[in-house]
Amino acid sequence: MAEETFDTIVIGVGAMGASACRELSLRGLSVLGIEQFAPGHDQGSSHGHTRVIRKAYFEDPRYVPLLHSTYDHWRTIESECGETLMVMAGCINIGPADHPAIKGVLQSVTEHKLAHDVLRAGEIHERFPAFCCDECDIGIYETDAGFLRPERCISAMVSQAQKRGAVIRTGERVMHWRAAADRVTVETERGEYTARSLVITAGPWFPIVCGDLGLPLRVERQVQTWYTPQDAANFSVGRLPSFIHFTGDRAYYGIPIDVAAPTPFDRAVKIARHHGGENTTADTVKREVTAEDEADVRTYIRRCMPGADGTLAASKVCLYTNTPDENFILDRHPHHGNVWLAGGFSGHGFKFAPVVGEILADFVTKGHTASPVGLFSIARFGRRS
Ligand SMILES: Cc1cc2nc3c(=O)[nH]c(=O)nc-3n(C[C@H](O)[C@H](O)[C@H](O)COP(=O)(O)OP(=O)(O)OC[C@H]3O[C@@H](n4cnc5c(N)ncnc54)[C@H](O)[C@@H]3O)c2cc1C
Repeated sequence: MAEETFDTIVIGVGAMGASACRELSLRGLSVLGIEQFAPGHDQGSSHGHTRVIRKAYFEDPRYVPLLHSTYDHWRTIESECGETLMVMAGCINIGPADHPAIKGVLQSVTEHKLAHDVLRAGEIHERFPAFCCDECDIGIYETDAGFLRPERCISAMVSQAQKRGAVIRTGERVMHWRAAADRVTVETERGEYTARSLVITAGPWFPIVCGDLGLPLRVERQVQTWYTPQDAANFSVGRLPSFIHFTGDRAYYGIPIDVAAPTPFDRAVKIARHHGGENTTADTVKREVTAEDEADVRTYIRRCMPGADGTLAASKVCLYTNTPDENFILDRHPHHGNVWLAGGFSGHGFKFAPVVGEILADFVTKGHTASPVGLFSIARFGRRS
């Protein structure tokens, strides 16, 4: 079998891999991206037509500088492909003022002076009639936010990488890889490839591709559900922003109707629960959605967004790959100086794809990055033998 050689091989061309291929090829490296399905597929973590993008980050204010940078990158990617990838529909975080996530949102907007409005429960309903919030809820609304179109984002990044010479092999699964000081070898079902460095962006397959590291990752089944609202106007861009609602010990999120999505998604509002799914693996996950899966979201809708209590228009299983602290992994492989890891995106990574690609390209070309990546170090899990 012929062996082909590249500067860098990227395992997995989903959100992060497509971005890594784009950034590495922009820097003049010869890149091979290997993807077991086709980019934009619906088996991993990056499908479902919309993803929230926001800066008022409840998770940790340290993400905000990366968010500023990722917005700039998305605009560059958008202007090159000539398509709208990011829809600035706004975003509102809703919950009791003393909820840790709401406090986190307020900390991010204050520390980073992000433009926002704080609304009381009644004001939320007046401005965005779809919501019926609890009296104790407040809303923090930001206009510099909205949603991305993930399949189109990936396709744009892949095309831009290919335009600069990147080779993307699809329908090819990596079976093994090994690394020596100045060379990595990747074996797929079809052949063997070598390169000077390796980037692993395997999404929910990350625990399999990096199985030897025994990282404390938990792959979680998540169900995305779309509803046909009674009054579509109240659930459309301009009337409904993207949202996250913290209520009790649960969080629900939603994204307004995106008229540019394929049918039936172009007339349905996405409303789903964040976390709360069962543990699984990417190869064995139950892909069918049952009535039981939908029941919890339906209860939420009846209480807090009654106008969306219509037909279930569509549903799709998706996967989170969670780290214990829900911060990402972006680091050098602990045993191989020329292998770089990007995983554990814990259900909030998509918006960061361009900046993750930039960081990975910095790692590969310089061995370090000026971006703040302290939160993402692999050392926080302790020594990996
Ligand atoms: C329901 C849901 C809602 C979400 N909402 C948001 C949101 O609103 N905002 C946000 O920012 N993030 C959100 N996320 C998270 C975000 O989508 C993910 O963090 C992000 O898409 C992860 O990208 P990835 O490249 O790591 O994984 P993926 O895009 O899944 O890519 C990994 C790729 O690697 C390939 N691969 C794996 N193993 C191999 C192998 N051995 N050989 C070849 N190819 C391989 C896979 O086929 C796959 O294409 C959500 C996720 C889900 C599931």
